[in-house]
Amino acid sequence: MTSDLHLHSTVSDGILKPADLVAQAYEAGIRILALTDHDSTDGINEATEKTQEYPDLILIPGVELSTDTNDGEIHILGYFLDIKNKDLQAKLEEFRSDRLGRAQSIVEKLNQLGFSIEWDLVKEIAGDGSVGRPHIAEALLQNGHVESIKEAFDKFIGRNGPAYSERRKMEPSEAVNLITTYSGIPILAHPREVNNLENLLPDLVDNGLKGMEVYYGLYSEEERLGYLNLCNKFDLLPTGGSDYHGPGRAAECDLGGSNTAEHIGSDLIQMHHDST
Ligand code: AMP
Ligand code: ZN
Ligand code: FE
Ligand code: FE
Repeated sequence: MTSDLHLHSTVSDGILKPADLVAQAYEAGIRILALTDHDSTDGINEATEKTQEYPDLILIPGVELSTDTNDGEIHILGYFLDIKNKDLQAKLEEFRSDRLGRAQSIVEKLNQLGFSIEWDLVKEIAGDGSVGRPHIAEALLQNGHVESIKEAFDKFIGRNGPAYSERRKMEPSEAVNLITTYSGIPILAHPREVNNLENLLPDLVDNGLKGMEVYYGLYSEEERLGYLNLCNKFDLLPTGGSDYHGPGRAAECDLGGSNTAEHIGSDLIQMHHDST
């Protein structure tokens, strides 16, 4: 039995509805899962309700925030946030509205490059969740401009692509503070993506970072050991998950594929209990 503490649903750029994700997670042998949609906690209620059908399944509420440094993108996960807090929800709504503007700007750039896609199609694919680049990639795919989601990122909308558009900047320490302000536990996501990790960590830890994803995706044993050593050095809780976005989305691994031990989820729950 395993944990999977990094999962996306239709509430952001995932394919499965929160309830379906919960059901499939259980089928995959996961007994502690966290829903961590981008800039939204709107799937937590549905997921919590579905979890009632499985007495031995625990759901941890979460969110994933995107931040930028001059040196690249950094994602911060927030667990056990006080999701009923109106100020927190206003913040998340602001982030989602920034996403809309950014996606529109990416679509404009694509149209200028001659790879036209309709904004309405992107909206339709995104539904009423947080819009993200995977939705634009899906529109490019449906219109025959690319043959895969990955190709869309590689050719057009990746960080160095010709249609990339920046979001409004938020520093990682800001996201860490925001999560802490609303009683959440901030955890650094997919550290392999972080440039200059060791230099960034002291400041993030000073700001209240509590952990880091060690058991992420298909990270090798050697990589995991390296990140585990950093966790020990900075007194961080090692966590992990698959970052599964559903069937048909480019992903490193399947639901539960990160093989994150069940006790990793329990440790996170324990940290939450110790802090309240
Ligand atoms: P956004 O939140 O709009 O910046 O889009 C980021 C999301 O796009 C990530 O959470 C992944 O789900 C997905 N993504 C990022 N890079 C790639 C890539 N190279 N191939 C496929 N999906 C990607
Ligand atoms: Zn995503
Ligand atoms: Fe991420
Ligand atoms: Fe993610």
